[in-house]
Amino acid sequence: MPTKQTNQDTQDLLTKAGHQTQDSEFFNPIPEGYIKGRHKYVVVLGTVISGLGKGIFSSSLAKLLKDKGLSIAPIKMEGYLNIDSGTLNPYRHGEVFVLDDGLETDMDLGTYERILDQNLTRDNYTTSGQIYRTVLDRERSGGYLGRDVQMIPHVTGEVKYRLRELALKQRADVIFIEVGGTVGDYENSFYIEALRELAFEEGEKAVSFVALTYVIEPPALGEQKSKAAQLGLKKLMEAGIQPDIIAVRAQKPVEASACQKIAMFSNVPIKRVFSMHDRDSIYSIPDAMRESGLDSQILTMLNLHDRVNVVHEDEARISWRNYIKKLNSKRPHKIKIGITGKYAALRDAYASIDKAIEHCATHLGADIELDWLDTTQIAPDDIPAALKKFDGIVVPGGFGHRGTESKIACIKYCRENKVPYLGICLGFQMAVVEFARNVCNLKDAASTEFDQKTAAPVIDFLPEQKQIEGLGGNMRLGGKDVLVKPQTLAAKLYDDHYTSKPHADGFTIRERFRHRYEVDPNFIEKLESNGLIFSGRHPEQPIMQILELPKDTHPYFIGAQFHPELTSRPLNPQPMFLGLVAAAMKHANPDIDTEALLNSWDIRSKA
Ligand code: GLN
Repeated sequence: MPTKQTNQDTQDLLTKAGHQTQDSEFFNPIPEGYIKGRHKYVVVLGTVISGLGKGIFSSSLAKLLKDKGLSIAPIKMEGYLNIDSGTLNPYRHGEVFVLDDGLETDMDLGTYERILDQNLTRDNYTTSGQIYRTVLDRERSGGYLGRDVQMIPHVTGEVKYRLRELALKQRADVIFIEVGGTVGDYENSFYIEALRELAFEEGEKAVSFVALTYVIEPPALGEQKSKAAQLGLKKLMEAGIQPDIIAVRAQKPVEASACQKIAMFSNVPIKRVFSMHDRDSIYSIPDAMRESGLDSQILTMLNLHDRVNVVHEDEARISWRNYIKKLNSKRPHKIKIGITGKYAALRDAYASIDKAIEHCATHLGADIELDWLDTTQIAPDDIPAALKKFDGIVVPGGFGHRGTESKIACIKYCRENKVPYLGICLGFQMAVVEFARNVCNLKDAASTEFDQKTAAPVIDFLPEQKQIEGLGGNMRLGGKDVLVKPQTLAAKLYDDHYTSKPHADGFTIRERFRHRYEVDPNFIEKLESNGLIFSGRHPEQPIMQILELPKDTHPYFIGAQFHPELTSRPLNPQPMFLGLVAAAMKHANPDIDTEALLNSWDIRSKA
């Protein structure tokens, strides 16, 4: 039974939550302290097909505004009912991207973090499930004063409330709202209605709508056809939304005639119809937008010109240009890196690793060929032959037993043949197992994730350790401090190139975790006395977080219990990946001066 509340209590509750309590056709929930006109909104919607790159468009335009000194808060509004992405299958939905605050979200948030070079929080992501849950919980606690609770105004009201709260909390000049799915889907229709209402309530020059659409070029016709685009845009207009900007996706640059038709049928001036055709790199999109004047169009539409900081913009533009220049220049150093994973099926499951390697390769001038090794298909004995051609190997995170023996064989090969190695999460754990078996002579060494009865559970499920952080038996999630030991490879990699905090025993860095199992402290001494170095650990507890082999025994062998790929950004490449790429370059060409390469890593400050 819900607790009974007095009418006055309920009134207070609603007012506190910003909900108008008197009977009115307007339901305009506004958080306390919200100033209308202070915050502007850009809504990005997709028409015709999904997968158009709304997130890329949205983050690129957001970047242009951020570069101008404006503060930006993006939000992804998903149509599905899941509360977060933690339970989604990465093989279907792409990787689970973990935010610093521990929210398990989808890869689109990764795109925003990378392009904006900004950490996001759980406020930057919502699902229909979250919205409904809030409304239903409020209904159960008597929060609607006996009214019938409806999609409009209550569910749409909750959407508007969240957006305004986000604006307020993150003090955003501009909130970029990306609605998942396509206009016309059942799942997102209440978001679209809420956004229409938001534009109405916020008044003039406060909300801009961007519609992404797609122009088809059937090979048999050899010309671009805009009918589907027109129909998609019509659907949006039927929902009461007049687009202000149209981004036209296409394989090739969109022809003038297609742009004109789209402009004419959607009442959008041609100068605001942008050809967002396929490009070599998504990182060139911000510049292309600027060249077509989209940034200043947005400023005009939202009346933001007087908030621009020109000096900030010039500096940001130079940094980005330098990166793009490096990205496009010919790379002299060819290297091959192998990743254990099934690329074809998992393209998006390792999106952040792909990007992290790209950031580092760009900065170091490496021309990288990535190859994917499906360890479920290669027997451990066949691993050495399969690895011969590589200059570096990554064993990424994973769950479940399949393919782990072959992963261990990969690690053994790298350790014995001095091939640069980066182990991530499961790849860290398997490196411990490999070392325990083959160096410490603990033949049965295993992780209890795969073998509960092993005599040497070097990797184990240790809920009591997690209780220290108040996590109980759950997955350890999100950003945590890692204490880095001085005079180690990890210290060299992170020192000066990363935001670190001093600590009595070295310095701490912050990285993001998503794991259940960890090194059993009972084996630490045995592992270390046989030569394994734990160069990163929990600042107070014996929880091991970075491992490495001594520099004089291996050129580059490192593993992280966390996911370094989640914090790599184009202008702030991740140190462990930089180290891997540099070491792989040396592996391919021993004449390369790795020290000089390492020392040129003042990328973070200069970019
Ligand atoms: N399965 C391992 C664990 O739960 C590793 C997890 C991961 O690689 N993300 O600890």
